[in-house]
Amino acid sequence: MGTSQTTVIVGGSIAGLLAAAAASPASEAVTIVERDDLPAGPEHRRGVPQGTQVHALLAVGQQNMERLLPGIVAELQEAGGTLVDGPGDLAVYTASGWTGRAPSDAKVVCARRPLIEWVIRKRVLTLPNVTVLKGNVTGLVANEDRTRVVGVSLRGADDVPADLVIDASGRSSKAPTWISDLGYDAPGEQELRSYVGYTTVPVRLPEDALPTGVAGVLSHPHPRNLRGGSVVPCDNGLHLVSALSMMNVDPPRDMPSLLEFVDRAASPVVGQVARTAEPVGDVVAYRMPGSRRRLWERLERRPEGFVAIGDAVMSFNPLYGQGMSLAAVEAVLLADTLADVSDLREPGLAGRIQGNFTATIETVFGIVVGTDSAYEGAELDGIEPPSADAAAFKKALSELATEDAEVSLAVKYVGHYFKPELLTAPAIREKVERWITEGRTSSKLDPTTIPGPVG
Ligand SMILES: Cc1cc2nc3c(=O)[nH]c(=O)nc-3n(C[C@H](O)[C@H](O)[C@H](O)COP(=O)(O)OP(=O)(O)OC[C@H]3O[C@@H](n4cnc5c(N)ncnc54)[C@H](O)[C@@H]3O)c2cc1C
Repeated sequence: MGTSQTTVIVGGSIAGLLAAAAASPASEAVTIVERDDLPAGPEHRRGVPQGTQVHALLAVGQQNMERLLPGIVAELQEAGGTLVDGPGDLAVYTASGWTGRAPSDAKVVCARRPLIEWVIRKRVLTLPNVTVLKGNVTGLVANEDRTRVVGVSLRGADDVPADLVIDASGRSSKAPTWISDLGYDAPGEQELRSYVGYTTVPVRLPEDALPTGVAGVLSHPHPRNLRGGSVVPCDNGLHLVSALSMMNVDPPRDMPSLLEFVDRAASPVVGQVARTAEPVGDVVAYRMPGSRRRLWERLERRPEGFVAIGDAVMSFNPLYGQGMSLAAVEAVLLADTLADVSDLREPGLAGRIQGNFTATIETVFGIVVGTDSAYEGAELDGIEPPSADAAAFKKALSELATEDAEVSLAVKYVGHYFKPELLTAPAIREKVERWITEGRTSSKLDPTTIPGPVG
């Protein structure tokens, strides 16, 4: 290590906290600069407006968080989080019918978002060299010839020096402007506007609200029905009822309209279960334009000492529950890159870290583009929609996944473990091609009854 070796992280949400854990071994000091007062418990805060909405932590996110913070999944459970077998115990109705349920190792941590953040924050702040500084970052500070970022400026307070600055300030990150202020091009962007709406309320369900062996039910919106809904477990024995909308359908804002909304989802089961629920919190709506990726890794000229992570790089349709998990994968990639580094000021380090995120980002972005570009009126900037062949393959896959356990698990594992290669395995391809050649269609289309697990 050199003489100072400090890392400054902008934003103390999930990506910022995990980046702090990742940078801690390679830094003498890690300072998280966060503009919110951080609550002492699992409470909602202004800087994370999406925190009121349904969140789940997928298996890939847990695995990567465990690398940085061993035992964190047990800590989430001790704090009240529930572990559910995603592919096995969640009943999911899609445009192709009920996806086949099959027991798996892809466990999902179900808990309200503020609880997840609070457990991670408590843990990260036990690291002796990590501290939080309350402050609103207003820009990047550069060296004299502007080749290197050497800190951040704050509103109404002194600059904070750093050898490495990591922007984890979320989807509304101002870093593209900050970098332009230093004389660099802002990163290019890819955007897919599918105008997503969410409404969530925490509820208590009667014991028998869901069939035995079913932990939650989701009816996804799809291009022929822009309204969806879900009832899934969260922490401390509660569930979350959510309305999910696409293409500018207004999310509901009170309990009666939430129930009416989910009644119009493709499967009536969500509405039936939701009507048995007793609300125990506020009904809160949230809207976002869709998915946006900032191409930080493609900058032709970049200053040393600056990296972006988490939603600041890509924030995307949250229907597949992947944002926190992507942040965890990126944080482990950051830790792995820093493990071989003896000086945070090593030339080229920031570009190398940023480039290492690209493959995983492309996997996740590919999932979103493959789904959301099918909506009529979805607006694509700088993105090619999938080819007709790829769309036909995807449709056949999801139909086959209603009745074939191997295919269903492969499809679900792409999301739960970010492993797209599972879908091109010869055994899966053969089955899908046979399905297409034989002109078969889904047999699990009856939306009124959740079928048992597939064999
Ligand atoms: C409706 C919805 C549902 C979602 N569901 C899921 C899900 O089921 N599973 C999942 O994994 N992900 C989900 N996500 C995504 C998830 O919320 C984010 O990916 C995750 O929180 C990581 O975000 P982040 O830490 O990069 O940014 P954020 O959580 O947005 O945090 C940014 C932080 O930076 C701070 N900040 C911003 N600007 C400044 C500044 N200038 N100075 C100092 N501090 C600043 C903010 O106060 C905040 O603390 C969902 C998102 C939405 C919108």
